[in-house]
Amino acid sequence: MIIDIHQHITYAKYPEFAKLLPTGHGSFTVKDLIKDMDKWGIDKSAVLPLSNPENLDIFGVAGNQEVLTECKKYPDRLIPFCCIDPRGMLHSPKADLGVLLKAFKKLGCKGIGEMCANLKITDPLYKNLFHHAGEQKMPIVFHFSPKKGGLYGVIDKPGLPGLEEVLKEFPKTIFIGHAPTFWNEIDGNLKSSQRESYPSGPITKKGSLWKLMEKYDNLYGDFSAGSGHNALTRDKAKGIEFLKKFNKKICYGTDLFFTKKEEPPHLTMMKEALANKQLSKKEFDNIMFKNFKRLFKV
Ligand SMILES: [Zn+2]
Repeated sequence: MIIDIHQHITYAKYPEFAKLLPTGHGSFTVKDLIKDMDKWGIDKSAVLPLSNPENLDIFGVAGNQEVLTECKKYPDRLIPFCCIDPRGMLHSPKADLGVLLKAFKKLGCKGIGEMCANLKITDPLYKNLFHHAGEQKMPIVFHFSPKKGGLYGVIDKPGLPGLEEVLKEFPKTIFIGHAPTFWNEIDGNLKSSQRESYPSGPITKKGSLWKLMEKYDNLYGDFSAGSGHNALTRDKAKGIEFLKKFNKKICYGTDLFFTKKEEPPHLTMMKEALANKQLSKKEFDNIMFKNFKRLFKV
């Protein structure tokens, strides 16, 4: 079995919108997604809405309501998430975001994300969301960012000290990291200028990601998109070491919301690791679906 933790669809009612945007990949409906999943042997996908203003409309990705409506067409294959803006419900660190989470949960949402609000991870507004996410037992998938403005995603400093602060402060909340600023911390020699890039070459010193993953039970990783794949393949031996060591804390994901002519590189990477016996079948299955099932109770 394979579950993709990170997928998107574009505006369902206005498919032409995504085609009008030079920043997106064009229209990608649930029908397209299911066809693509069938082609590559993906059993289920989590469909993540975007609703934070930083990247709302950039790619023509569907928001909460459309994701719920569209996922209902394939209830055995698609798992809806909800994207909650920490500035929502009247922009207060005391806002009862639990009301929203409960409502979305009742409608079938299993997780929160993709969280892209460009605020510091230690901002009281984010902390309020983390508190409610923990209370409602809804894990959060994050896009990380190195700075404010010109980007989207939760902001943290080099070494991710803010992430460590919230991991400690909200032990009941499950944090699932994604994007270059998260995955590049696999490298202890990462330069500040490289945080949002795709560095190449060997990893000669382990970065903060190793320490945080080892120390905090509530931290997980989603290796979707170019970022996770690059971090785990730029130094193949270190990538395998990371996957093996944290096989109970990493989820398979692609974030490739278009019809793929070639096998997703994340799938190739995992299949090769299994075929070369670098990962056992048990470790492989944990990453491909078991961790997801355990975290989201599906
Ligand atoms: Zn995404």
